[in-house]
Amino acid sequence: MPTTPLSPTTSPRSVLVTGAARGIGRAIAEQFVAAGDKVACLDRAAELTTGDILQVPADVCDTASLDAAFTTVEQAHGPVDIVVANAGITRDGLLMRMSDEDFQTVLDVNLTGAFRVVRRASKSMIKRRSGRIVLIASVVGLYGGVGQANYSASKAGLVGLARSITRELGGRGITANVVAPGFIDTAMTQGLPDDVKTKYLAAIPAGRWGSVDDVAQVVEFLASPAAAYISGAVVPVDGGLGMGH
Ligand code: NAD
Repeated sequence: MPTTPLSPTTSPRSVLVTGAARGIGRAIAEQFVAAGDKVACLDRAAELTTGDILQVPADVCDTASLDAAFTTVEQAHGPVDIVVANAGITRDGLLMRMSDEDFQTVLDVNLTGAFRVVRRASKSMIKRRSGRIVLIASVVGLYGGVGQANYSASKAGLVGLARSITRELGGRGITANVVAPGFIDTAMTQGLPDDVKTKYLAAIPAGRWGSVDDVAQVVEFLASPAAAYISGAVVPVDGGLGMGH
């Protein structure tokens, strides 16, 4: 019988989180720092994190900048053991009025951006037969959302991406999972209209918004040796909003 390694077990691990200048990504980066790991924040924002987190400015839509950022991280922290594709944007609008540009831009950052990041990360993971890939999707990916055809499609696409990676690389000690947050209190949701917020809150069985730490703790678990046999999964962190989907 083939054995499944509990990798990555090296400590500290080299962790790269995209979109980690603020919000959920920042909380994920800080969670790994607290666990004693070497953490890099890849973001296009000018104001990046400070302290123990290595800052590597890059745009997930720009392959050359991503490659340079990964090289910097590899030189400073060693090959990436854990990659979290978290960078994401919204450009909401009703279907009839949604422009090609708004659809394509959201797909390019949220889905193709994640693809570019995990493709680059997989190079050394395949060589070392070890790695953890976590993609941050959304409850909206499987639930749908009015005015979010672009965003929902991009997040649903991450499920196919993670499952294809699982089939392709599962035998090499690499796992790929999706975390699907519900409504989390960040800048992204603070901008929603009040009536939308009230409607969603009423639909959340837990009766509260999620916190960035609710998401970060689940991401850290999926990257841990304890989660070595979980791959291709969609893990909701939504207070029951999506009823397990
Ligand atoms: P946020 O807007 O607060 O942070 C997103 C970060 O991504 C920013 O720092 C931004 O600079 C960075 N980013 C955006 N485009 C980028 C690019 N092209 N290249 C590099 N960096 C880029 O968002 P958040 O609320 O923290 O959300 C983080 C992730 O979680 C997103 O993928 C989002 O879709 C997802 N999500 C959020 C919620 C929520 O309620 N906030 C719910 C479900 C899913």
